[in-house]
Amino acid sequence: MNLIIMGAPGAGKGTQSAIISEKWQIPAVSTGDMLRAAVKEGTELGVTAKSYMDSGKLVPDEVVIGIIRDYLSSDKCNNGFILDGFPRSIPQAEALERMGVRIDAVLSIEVADEKIIERMSGRRICSSCGASYHVVYNPPKTADVCDTCSSALYVRADDAAETVLQRLQTYHGTTEPLKDFYAKRGLLVCVEGQEKVEDTTALVMKVLEGVSKKEK
Ligand code: AMP
Repeated sequence: MNLIIMGAPGAGKGTQSAIISEKWQIPAVSTGDMLRAAVKEGTELGVTAKSYMDSGKLVPDEVVIGIIRDYLSSDKCNNGFILDGFPRSIPQAEALERMGVRIDAVLSIEVADEKIIERMSGRRICSSCGASYHVVYNPPKTADVCDTCSSALYVRADDAAETVLQRLQTYHGTTEPLKDFYAKRGLLVCVEGQEKVEDTTALVMKVLEGVSKKEK
């Protein structure tokens, strides 16, 4: 299955795509994770990306399109993939179409802005494996420690309140028009993001069962 998962920052894209990836045994490709890794390694790409990311703006289209093109042409994606956080603009979606990549469904997780702001303030990320937690809705078993790899959790720099507002503005202005783009192609499925991760997962799985039956 070739999937795109979209939604406002903090809607739960990363959490749901990790769950889908495990269940369907397909890789979850997060441009945000790739860019954060590049920033951490201090590569040329990371240096270019950092200022955009820290201010809640999108990294230029040509940069992310190049990363995704390389990834999708690798053997890892032979059995399908989930794109988490790409495309994020109409030119990115058009570039994906030009790559000739078939998409089976675009899942949009819908969460109101007020909820997003509340969620982002409690988000914690593992410094080693990138797993995502929330101090109230999805707490780790031990405070500030990753359940999976026992590394320390941290607050993402771009989860600061003023950056979250900028990211929401970017989402509504540049990314949300993709819903219409994919609805016109008959690919868009919207799911209401729930308070509890497992409730959203149940809705997502129901949708994906339908998509996979249609595939067969
Ligand atoms: P995320 O982890 O998906 O929330 O992404 C974090 C940040 O990385 C975003 O706020 C952007 O600055 C950048 N980023 C991730 N994916 C993209 C993309 N497809 N296009 C442009 N910028 C991106």
